[in-house]
Amino acid sequence: MAVDSFPAKARKISANIGAHYVDNARKLPWRSPPGSNLPDPYHVWLSEVMLQQTTVGAVKSYFEKFTRRWPTVQDLAGAEEADVMAAWAGLGYYARARNLRKCAVHVTEKRNGIFPQKESELLQLPGVGAYTAAAIAAIAFGERAVVVDANIERLVARLFAIDTPLPKGKAEIRAAMDAITPRHGAGDFAQACMDIGATICTSKNPKCEICPVQKQCAAFKAGDMERYPVKPPKKAKPVRRARFFWIEQQDRILLATRPPKGMLGGMRSLPDDGWAAGNDGHATPPLTGEWRVHDNIVQHSFTHFSLEVDLAVYQGEKIVTNNDDNIWWALDDLAEAGLPTLYAKAVKWKMKEEK
Ligand code: SF4
Repeated sequence: MAVDSFPAKARKISANIGAHYVDNARKLPWRSPPGSNLPDPYHVWLSEVMLQQTTVGAVKSYFEKFTRRWPTVQDLAGAEEADVMAAWAGLGYYARARNLRKCAVHVTEKRNGIFPQKESELLQLPGVGAYTAAAIAAIAFGERAVVVDANIERLVARLFAIDTPLPKGKAEIRAAMDAITPRHGAGDFAQACMDIGATICTSKNPKCEICPVQKQCAAFKAGDMERYPVKPPKKAKPVRRARFFWIEQQDRILLATRPPKGMLGGMRSLPDDGWAAGNDGHATPPLTGEWRVHDNIVQHSFTHFSLEVDLAVYQGEKIVTNNDDNIWWALDDLAEAGLPTLYAKAVKWKMKEEK
């Protein structure tokens, strides 16, 4: 369906969504109320990076923790990378945390701590992709940028019954969003669309009865809302195997620091068999001795594969480590180690097994 041929429909959608936002905007810690002053670009940038692949509910406490500890982009630029990674632990997709600090350093050192205002300039910042640049330009600086996240993608695909499967359909969806984005207030409009996508036009059981654009919605008219956006056929995820090593001595366990590059780079973790570097780990323990192996204690899903984890346990006296990247950590303080979710799941399993 060519959106250009429906300018009146586009105008109506735009007006209805804008009016709905005035009374129904979600109150989020990084937002300004509809129609008020533009929010702090540091807050918008931080929240948008955190929200990639992550729900609003999960992000709120992290956003508050980060802005309490590092109130400005300069404060974040001055933080130790290990502290930023540990504070990020549990949010997933850890490359975002590394890029976050890199971007903070760039803005502080190369731009006097001031974020650029234009979408095209924002795109040049480390870790800022097309979506994030558009969102910051529109929300923090009022530029008329076209913002399309997953919630907006679903809403717009349904409004215009765009049936080209993703990812090819993205260009049509973007063109449709372009057609309905108003000249002024693009930031509020984008956030209004995000809210409707998240709370009304949900992927399952959309609440069409309270939707402000029900009358303009092609998918609703056809009674086929959940068909959109049309997804490509699902490929089965390959399954890979890993082994983690639990090395315990006098109420402490040995933690490793992962190499700076690669999956979960720079994070603290249990020592493991190098699963991230190869297809599967080699399962060779780092110490000779008697190991108790527990098979398949954790299953974890990454974007492109699933991981099944075994845990090998060694509890002994006088264990020597000469690896500078290893550290003995008190069992009672493990919650503060900032382990990524995958390793935290293994720790949880072990603690439960001991009870
Ligand atoms: Fe989504 Fe239903 Fe509204 Fe259409 S009418 S936009 S399907 S909530």
